[in-house]
Amino acid sequence: MEIVIVGANHAGISAAMTILGHYTGHNVTMFEMDDNVSFVGADALLRLAGKIDSESSMWYSSPEKLQSKGVKLHMQTEVTAVDLKAKTVTGTAKSCESVVKHYDKLILATGSSARKLGVTGADAENVLTLKTAHDAKKLFKYADSPATRAIAIVGTGHIGVELAIALSIQKQKSADKFENRKIMLFGRSARSLKEHVDDIFATKIDDLLTENGVELHYGENLVAFQDDGKTLVTDSGKYAVDVTVISAGFVANSELLAGEIQRLEGSNVYIVNSAQQTSNADVYAVGDVASSYMNVTGENASIQLGSYATRSGIIAGHNAVTDNKYAKSIGTQGSSSINAYGFIVSTTGLTFGAAQATFSKRNIEVSKTDFTALVKPKYLVGDENAEVTVRLVFETESKRLLGACIASTYDISSALHMLSLAINQNMTLYDLRYVDMFFSPWQNQVYNFVLRAAARGAEGK
Ligand SMILES: Cc1cc2nc3c(=O)[nH]c(=O)nc-3n(C[C@H](O)[C@H](O)[C@H](O)COP(=O)(O)OP(=O)(O)OC[C@H]3O[C@@H](n4cnc5c(N)ncnc54)[C@H](O)[C@@H]3O)c2cc1C
Repeated sequence: MEIVIVGANHAGISAAMTILGHYTGHNVTMFEMDDNVSFVGADALLRLAGKIDSESSMWYSSPEKLQSKGVKLHMQTEVTAVDLKAKTVTGTAKSCESVVKHYDKLILATGSSARKLGVTGADAENVLTLKTAHDAKKLFKYADSPATRAIAIVGTGHIGVELAIALSIQKQKSADKFENRKIMLFGRSARSLKEHVDDIFATKIDDLLTENGVELHYGENLVAFQDDGKTLVTDSGKYAVDVTVISAGFVANSELLAGEIQRLEGSNVYIVNSAQQTSNADVYAVGDVASSYMNVTGENASIQLGSYATRSGIIAGHNAVTDNKYAKSIGTQGSSSINAYGFIVSTTGLTFGAAQATFSKRNIEVSKTDFTALVKPKYLVGDENAEVTVRLVFETESKRLLGACIASTYDISSALHMLSLAINQNMTLYDLRYVDMFFSPWQNQVYNFVLRAAARGAEGK
């Protein structure tokens, strides 16, 4: 079978490696318009914060590695047309040469691009975005230079906040070099992470940003850039900046088959079923360009996470060569996590705010319970132990779990993964409060914070 994959980043690579690693007798051809593959955006933030020694850690594969696994790879070749009837894709190389390739199955892994803000002056050289390896390299040049005295970040979503954290850690680590540097974070909302976490957690993260030297400009709207990007103008003031990073989200790269393959209104991702198959049976979509089925709401959404990119790539890879017999997606909770100077906030499912907004339209009342406890028994003190706060969001009457957020300086990611599974399995707080969890004072209380929070919620507290 001829399998063509458009896009050779996380989702595309995952699909290709699944096919070539599990099956024989198939040809996998990949088209990638960029000059590199497998760039991990999150690692660019680690690099800024000085957490990785070598920039090469930001990639886990390369064109050579993909070719050595058997991929027929067309680098720096943009797929500019797909003929769904003739089952061909046309790639246009940097040299302007065209390649036409027939497919039996097509996997669209074209991902997303950084959203640009159409304000005056945003095309200046020092107004950046952060999505690709080229973006990261440009940013490193500014961030590593002591001549950069003022950095602005516009956007207080996950990436904007994480970037502010990384830059402030970089400044702290090389205080002599960046002593007088200003790091400013701009956002329209009165607080950060509006779409990601509820107020109680965002407030703590915002306090930590301030404590760590990030100047917060919340409730300000970007209006324009002046003086070749050296002045950032909001509706509240003008700021001298050396560089600005616009972090305003990502737009699905789905124009290629707009009008021909069904897309999700609002986000424009290709709508896929549990096999990652689009409205055209021979075409699959994966990663940032594909919809994701949210178990909590029973609706498709765009979640744009590397975890989904990899998982959906594996599912599509198996299905493309087994006629959908092998793998089924079990939906998603959109779990994510942010580490603010060691205070880790992890979420799964819906925030309380999002649950209220969604379920009020269905006349379903939602509730929350907040619970704070020590991770381990209180007689264990010091670094070995820490407070953890958990919020559970649930349907008031049925007690079905809709979302969870856990925050602590102790890494309790595994509890969050477990809560993601609980939502996936449609569990109620009545079930959750009696789940078997081990007791060992080295690691856990006898009746731990998740069980106690679930018990409180189940009892209507
Ligand atoms: C700074 C940063 C930090 C992040 N941190 C996290 C994190 O901590 N956890 C997490 O889960 N996610 C994180 N993400 C999100 C994650 O990186 C994305 O969800 C992921 O990259 C999506 O992978 P993808 O392969 O679907 O798409 P992309 O990474 O967007 O890749 C798509 C590829 O397709 C190519 N392409 C597009 N159109 C064409 C065409 N017509 N022809 C040929 N090639 C084409 C592009 O050049 C690109 O290489 C982060 C993202 C960024 C930018």
